[in-house]
Amino acid sequence: MTATSRIPLGRAQLLASTVIRDARRLRIGAEAITPVGSLRRFAPDVGDVSLLAVAPRSEHRHVLSAFARLPIVANISAQTSASLTASTERGDVTLHVTSSEHAGAALVWHTGSRAHVERLRQRAARLGLRFQQGWIAHPDGSNVSCPTEEDVYARLDLPYIAPELRDGGHELDAAERGELPRLVAESDIRGDLHMHSTWSDGRDTIADMVSASKQLGYEYVAISDHSERAQASRALAAADVARQREEIDALRARAHGIDVLHGIEVDIMRDGSLDFPDALLEGFDFVLASLHDHGGQDGAALTERYLRAIRHPLVNVITHPTNRAPGRFDGYQLDLDRLFTEAAANGTAMEIDGAPAHLDLDGPLARRAAGAGVTIVIDSDAHRTDGLGRQMRFGVGTARRGWIEPRHVLNTRTLDEVRAFVARKRARQPARG
Ligand SMILES: [Zn+2]
Ligand SMILES: [Zn+2]
Repeated sequence: MTATSRIPLGRAQLLASTVIRDARRLRIGAEAITPVGSLRRFAPDVGDVSLLAVAPRSEHRHVLSAFARLPIVANISAQTSASLTASTERGDVTLHVTSSEHAGAALVWHTGSRAHVERLRQRAARLGLRFQQGWIAHPDGSNVSCPTEEDVYARLDLPYIAPELRDGGHELDAAERGELPRLVAESDIRGDLHMHSTWSDGRDTIADMVSASKQLGYEYVAISDHSERAQASRALAAADVARQREEIDALRARAHGIDVLHGIEVDIMRDGSLDFPDALLEGFDFVLASLHDHGGQDGAALTERYLRAIRHPLVNVITHPTNRAPGRFDGYQLDLDRLFTEAAANGTAMEIDGAPAHLDLDGPLARRAAGAGVTIVIDSDAHRTDGLGRQMRFGVGTARRGWIEPRHVLNTRTLDEVRAFVARKRARQPARG
C-alpha cells in the first residue's frame, strides 16, 4: 500500500476488527483498543486505519512491540514512542498508545478530522490551554486530566460532539448555540426495508435473513429481491413472484415476534417505467425502485428517469440514488434539488444504503434531502445474514454524518406507520412538477 491509497470503509473496518481481535487474543497489554481516525467517523473511504490503545505509561513500549509481533503484521514502516505503523497485506494500520488520564484527549485528537481538531486547539488556546498531540496542558505544562471525550469538550465549554459530526464544518458553531442534532442511532432502527435472498442474488434464504434480522431486535423487515431485468447476477422473474409470496406467507405463520413484508427492488427502465407492471407491483407490501446502470444516458436523462419513478404511486423508496461507488465513481450528475423536491411532494422516500459499495445517499446529500422534506430510509441492502447488522451500522453512521435525526427516518417508525406511508401514496393522485 502506498501512503496515499484509500481503503473503502467496509475493508477498513474488517482490517481494524481483525487487528483488535488478534491484539486481545494475544494480550498485547492494553486495557482498551478502539478504532479512531476517519474509520470512527464513518468516512466512505479511509486514508489511514488507526487504532488507539490505552495502557499504563510504563507499558507503552511493551504494547507497541507486542503489536509489532502480531501475525498479521508484515513489517514496520514508522515508529515513535507513542505510535507504530505496521504494513499488512490488507493495508497499513497505525496503533497509537496513551494512558487513561489522557484517553479522552487522545481519542479526540486521533479521531479528527484535522479541521475539527484544529478548531478545538484554537479554542483551547483562547481558554489558556494547550491541546497538542493527544493531551491537554496548562500553560505551565501541568496536565489537564481528560479520561473521556466528554471531559475534553467540557473543558472547552462545549457539549459532546459525536465523531460523525466532526468534519470541521459548522459543528462547533451548532454546539455553541445548543443546536446539535439528536442523531439517529442503531437502537432507533425498528426494521430493515432492503435485503436480498436466494430468490435473487442473495446468498441466504428468506427464512435465514428473517431469523438473523429478528436476532438484531427488529420488529419488521422487507425482503426485496431484484426484479427480472436488473443488472444483477440473479433476479426474481415475474413468474416467480407468486411462489415467493407463498414462501413468505408460510414463514409469517411460523415467525413470531417479527413481521415480514413482501418487498421488491424493481429496476427503473430507460424510459422511467418500471420493470414490473403495476398489477404485479400492487401485490407487494413495499416497493423500492432503483437504477443499476445508466445505459449511456446523461445526467439530465437520468434525472427524468428518476422523476417518473418518484411520481409513480407504487414506488415507496428510491434506493442508492446517485449510484456512487466510494473511491471509484462519484455518482451520476443528477439534478438532485429537483429530485428531492419531487420526492418530498410525492411521499417517496430516499435511501441511505449501508452497503460499503454504496453508502448512498452520503451524509451531506442525506442532509440536503432531509432539509428538503424528504423522508429518509436507512437500509442494509444485505445479500447475506452477516451483512444485516454490519451494513446497517454503516448506514446509520452515514446518516449521522448527515445530521439525520430519528424523526427524518421512516424505519424508526412502527410498522403501522410504515404501512400508512405506503397507503397514503397509493391513495393520492401523483403530484405534477
Ligand atoms: Zn440495488
Ligand atoms: Zn439491493
